Amino acid sequence: MSRFLSGRYAELVPYVPGEQPKDNKYIKLNTNESPFPPSPKAVAAGREALEKLNLYSDPSCYALIRAVSELYGVSVECVICSNGSDEVLSWAFAAFCCEGRPAVFPDVTYGFYPVFAAQNGVPYKIVPLKEDFSVDTGEMKKEKGTLFIANPNAPTGIALKADVIEEIVRADPERIVVVDEAYVDFGAESVVSLVLKYENLLVTQTFSKSRSMAGARLGLGFASPALIRDLETIRCSINPYNVGTVAQAMGIGALSDNEYMLDNCREICENRAYTVSALSALGFEMTDSSANFIFVRHPDIGGEELYQKLREKGILVRHFSRPDRIKDYNRITVGSIDQMKALVKAAAEIL
Ligand code: PMP
Repeated sequence: MSRFLSGRYAELVPYVPGEQPKDNKYIKLNTNESPFPPSPKAVAAGREALEKLNLYSDPSCYALIRAVSELYGVSVECVICSNGSDEVLSWAFAAFCCEGRPAVFPDVTYGFYPVFAAQNGVPYKIVPLKEDFSVDTGEMKKEKGTLFIANPNAPTGIALKADVIEEIVRADPERIVVVDEAYVDFGAESVVSLVLKYENLLVTQTFSKSRSMAGARLGLGFASPALIRDLETIRCSINPYNVGTVAQAMGIGALSDNEYMLDNCREICENRAYTVSALSALGFEMTDSSANFIFVRHPDIGGEELYQKLREKGILVRHFSRPDRIKDYNRITVGSIDQMKALVKAAAEIL
């Protein structure tokens, strides 16, 4: 830290993203990317947009928001576009949390949440997951702060049903519930349509996972028009050109090819089923995942050791040492079937 850094940030501990190795020698199963390229329609639209890079991007994301609104069946006033869904999540911490209204989320969830809270200078409160790693919806419901629920949760992959989420939203109209649906397309139920019904619901989604566009940085927020206006205030006070021209064009291309996304998700779900059964046969234990990753441990080997040994064999997975109760687990992205076969083979050799 230099002597110039504002005291505001003296204690800030940044989020550490999963490793992005510079060489290509690893089978990368550590950051939940898609093994498939973006839709050819997205790529073509992105290429065409390159010619327009002399101009600023459309700060209103007009055409992209129209495409989102048509596909998701919500009005354009209910949509906001962000630079990855991390950005809209960060705005939500800034806009909807404060002293007396802390952010509330589980102990085992997306590791960026406490960092968003710290960076935005807002308090947060932890409601631990139950013993079986499911969200303690009863306890969450009692909280008065702004709830952040990743559905499916990460890194567990466990999903809540839409009606359970609706119950939480309905339980207190004075409290905002943010549902982070980064992984929803891999087998969970989306609550996007509920934003038409509830003023206190914000749903975030991303093009990074099911739409194979992690590098484009494109995310979405869905909410009532009043909440979207609040988020717009934050957005336009930081960077109104937050989504580049190429990302906007690729987003429109990707949405016009929804079948491509659905096919890829089907394939990932098949590969997940294969991996779950092959690893179970080797004695691995795992949570019931509705995401493009699985969360596994083995009674005969520690999480850190398995991570290191897989790494030596050229396979990168994600190991978290904190909180302690997940130190024996690894989160493994579900990739192509060949990648999953290589993973199973390596795990069998290590055991
Ligand atoms: N939510 C969760 C639960 C995630 O795991 C991620 C990816 N790290 C994100 C949101 C943000 O992804 P992106 O910014 O790429 O949309």
